[in-house]
Amino acid sequence: MRGNFFTICSFFYILLLVVIFFSKKRYESVENKIYSWLIITNFFGVLLAIFTYICIMRADVLGTFAMIVSKSYILYLLTWITLFSIYIFVIIVKSKDYSLTEKAKQYKKIFKFCGAVFAVIAIVVCVLPLYLMNDNSKVYSYGPSANVIYLVSAIYAIIWIYALIRNYKNLKKTKYMPILVYLIFSLVVVIINRIYPELLLITSLETFVTFLMYFTIENPDLQLIKELNIAKDQAEKANKAKTDFLSNMSHEIRTPLNAIDGFSQLILEEDNIEEVKDEVRDIMAASQNLLEIVNGILDISKIEANKLEIVNVEYEPAKVFDELVKLTKGRLGDKPLEFRINIAKDLPEYLNGDYVRLKQIVLNLLTNAVKYTKEGFIEFNVDTVRKDKVCRLIISVKDSGIGIKKENIDKLFTKFERFDVDKNMTIEGTGLGLAITKKLLDLMHGTIVVDSTYGKGSKFTVAIDQKIVTNPKTKKEEVKVKPKKVSIKGKKVLIVDDNAINLKVAARLLSTYNLQTEEVASGFECLDKIKKGEKYDLILMDDMMPKLSGVETFKKLKEMENFNTPVIALTANAIAGMKENYLKEGFNDYISKPIDKKELERVLNTYLK
Ligand code: ADP
Repeated sequence: MRGNFFTICSFFYILLLVVIFFSKKRYESVENKIYSWLIITNFFGVLLAIFTYICIMRADVLGTFAMIVSKSYILYLLTWITLFSIYIFVIIVKSKDYSLTEKAKQYKKIFKFCGAVFAVIAIVVCVLPLYLMNDNSKVYSYGPSANVIYLVSAIYAIIWIYALIRNYKNLKKTKYMPILVYLIFSLVVVIINRIYPELLLITSLETFVTFLMYFTIENPDLQLIKELNIAKDQAEKANKAKTDFLSNMSHEIRTPLNAIDGFSQLILEEDNIEEVKDEVRDIMAASQNLLEIVNGILDISKIEANKLEIVNVEYEPAKVFDELVKLTKGRLGDKPLEFRINIAKDLPEYLNGDYVRLKQIVLNLLTNAVKYTKEGFIEFNVDTVRKDKVCRLIISVKDSGIGIKKENIDKLFTKFERFDVDKNMTIEGTGLGLAITKKLLDLMHGTIVVDSTYGKGSKFTVAIDQKIVTNPKTKKEEVKVKPKKVSIKGKKVLIVDDNAINLKVAARLLSTYNLQTEEVASGFECLDKIKKGEKYDLILMDDMMPKLSGVETFKKLKEMENFNTPVIALTANAIAGMKENYLKEGFNDYISKPIDKKELERVLNTYLK
């Protein structure tokens, strides 16, 4: 059994390799396929080598069977060397700059050539004689049949060396390792076997080479590839969405900007005050439109970052619907549209829900109806279904407008989707409204249904449950907290902003309340003024200023002794969660730009009493 020692060791190696290789998901390539055949061949070859050894030992009893087994082992050696050669030729072709079809052609040629060589040599091996040696623990086979394998291996080796030298630059260095090991060690094995023919080393060498190859074949982690591909797809989609977003936004923002810029130029040349007022109204409408676009973007970004929260409070539904009607009438302008309103008489007096978002949802539907209807009517219906303490609001907006094609209805709630854009060139919109509406409704556990006939009109129906409030707190508080009119005249306000136009707008707005204002263009100037002992009743502080930001200025102000002036963050930094951030920093309040006069009044009334 001594001569068989290396073969038995190889058995454990190859067994381990079979388990490792076949238990892992593999990357399907020609290289991997050939390698898997090589492993299987090697596994059975090792078993056959052990079996052959036993058969030769018992040749006297087994006779022809021992010969058949021994020849089978020689055929195994031929199979292994053939597969190894195929592998080498395949990796050489693979490393070349061929097209996929060209590579496939070359692979076919390799298989044909090696297959033909195998068939011829196999016949020769079967025909030529083989002798079995079993003498005093020296067990091996020899003779012309075995020598043919040495010859074929040597010829293949010459072809490999030639092909490898020719393709030296293409092939990865690691790929050479098992081939070099095989070439060097096979020479050593041949020499050792000349001296000690009973040491059966060839199968072990093949196992060792097959084992080494495992570390050089391309066998990346499939799971990792899958995850990488998913991540790549997502990144590509996100990138495309970003590009679409930018081009959409560029167009949408330019439209109102164009109006603002154009009318401003007209005003400069206009002397008639009535005309000027008219143009200013158009500018205000364009600004409002611009603000709606920005708010839409903020809403979408908030929703997508899961930062949009539904704030449920008590509210009076009748008031909300009333406001919606007023707003829609305002948007109708002089369009020849009949505005039909049917609001349920049995609306509960108080409901609990996020009325700000509810208003946003319905206003979007009403605004769309106005936008996409040239003539005819718009119908606004509000119905209720009560169950215990819950009131289901069923709100529908019907119009006799352009309608929506069937195939587009499913895409209505996808952001930036707009239809018949060439027809609707003059209708402003971002394609964000319905996407936001749908997401808000999802958050509020509501539903929306669309029914539309292209060319005839559409009907959007929203259903949403709101809790009925039977004992409202608001009602009592409202009576108590009637704001007293406090005079704020003459109070001193400091405005800190690096942008001259922003300073001018804020100062001009404040001047309408007869306040004294001072303007500084940086945090440093603000700090200087306070250090000099100047006293103010209120500071309006921009944040995004160069060198010293509003937040940094505010921190320095707070470190000063006896500083207790209220400081309001007045900033265009209005993305999701910014208000909360500024309040956390310690600012008394927050106003976003463009300044809403009502918001400004609220702040002035709160802090200048
Ligand atoms: P926007 O109106 O800003 O384009 P929306 O998301 O509100 O964005 O609407 C998406 C698209 O759905 C619109 O561009 C329009 O083509 C179509 N649409 C929405 N409402 C109506 C309606 N009432 N009648 C016809 N088409 C509509």
